[in-house]
Amino acid sequence: MSDPARPRILTGDTPTGRLHLGHYVGSIENRLAMQETHECFFIIANTHALTTRAEDPAGVTADVLEITKDYLAADIDPARSTIFIQSEVPAIAELTWYFAMLLGYGRLMRNPTVKDEIIVKNLGDNYSFGFLMYPVGQVADILAFRPQWVPVGEDQVPHIEMCRELARKFNVAYCGVDPKTPDEEHEKLGVFPVPAAKVGRIARLPGIDGKNKMSKSLGNAIYLSDDSKTLRKKCNQIFTGRMSATDPGETDPAKNPLWAFHDAFNHDKAEVADMKARYAEGKIGDGDCKKRLAEVLDTMLEPMRQRRAAFDADPKRVLTVLREGTSRANGVAEETLMRAKKAMKFDFFSRSLRLE
Ligand code: ATP
Ligand code: MG
Repeated sequence: MSDPARPRILTGDTPTGRLHLGHYVGSIENRLAMQETHECFFIIANTHALTTRAEDPAGVTADVLEITKDYLAADIDPARSTIFIQSEVPAIAELTWYFAMLLGYGRLMRNPTVKDEIIVKNLGDNYSFGFLMYPVGQVADILAFRPQWVPVGEDQVPHIEMCRELARKFNVAYCGVDPKTPDEEHEKLGVFPVPAAKVGRIARLPGIDGKNKMSKSLGNAIYLSDDSKTLRKKCNQIFTGRMSATDPGETDPAKNPLWAFHDAFNHDKAEVADMKARYAEGKIGDGDCKKRLAEVLDTMLEPMRQRRAAFDADPKRVLTVLREGTSRANGVAEETLMRAKKAMKFDFFSRSLRLE
């Protein structure tokens, strides 16, 4: 069991691009707060990125480095948090096999995040077998680290629910744990805890298109690494639904990114309330509110850009962070795998793993 004084968390990102504002409020903020008090593992899920980018592994590898720099720029501290590469932790792939056997195909296909991704990413019925494997792989990503918490955005909650089911199922099937055992007791009696999702301050930040959640693969994101000019341009492109000065525009804040972003990032609440009132009366337009938003975001992103520039200039340091993190991650994941195989009576030989 991990140190009870420092509960463990596991979360991460798919290297399908760089980190955006949705990641920040959905997950990174929680990570920054929790790295003070928790033992943190952050996975860069490069194998999962292949679900939609199988023809471009080199691009995925480039994004592994970009995301690592985003973490460091956001102030994730590699001395306190473990940042690691999924494909270099083989225990995860092995656990994926065992979990896949415990998961019904029908149950997987009922997962709303899987259904949603098939639609928004336009996968039709051309998705790979590997695409369906990724939620199972994600269960292994998480359980390999036996965490108490998984900080995620709202879209990932169905995956965490599946993870909780599989943790219980494994413990019942192979560790003799009574199916009626409360979740909090599982880690003591079985191999796996039943980890809980911790959703960020903003559960689902919309993209600048106002249609979908902000997403790396949908071309609707403001990136943490965007420069001031790009930021201003993207703020100007934000969809508000306003057709004229007297039109209030899209009034559902969930569909109007202009206000969703002001609410999320502009900490001067009185200013935002005043702007909304004057906007509704037709006294100010989209342009003024977008300009102010760009200023607010620019102030927030500037220190991250500066930290990022230091890592851009020192790629060796980034690789060292990844090597050290992946090495620590292998220590924990190998131990979990060994415990799981022991419970399954599949523990023929012991082994050790060392990164060069
Ligand atoms: P992709 O388009 O490749 O799926 P993504 O932008 O959805 O990329 P992920 O790597 O899938 O990003 O998600 C990483 C983490 O960030 C997850 O915990 C996810 O829930 C959270 N997250 C992603 N987008 C948002 C968003 N718009 N609002 C809040 N949280 C988000
Ligand atoms: Mg996603």
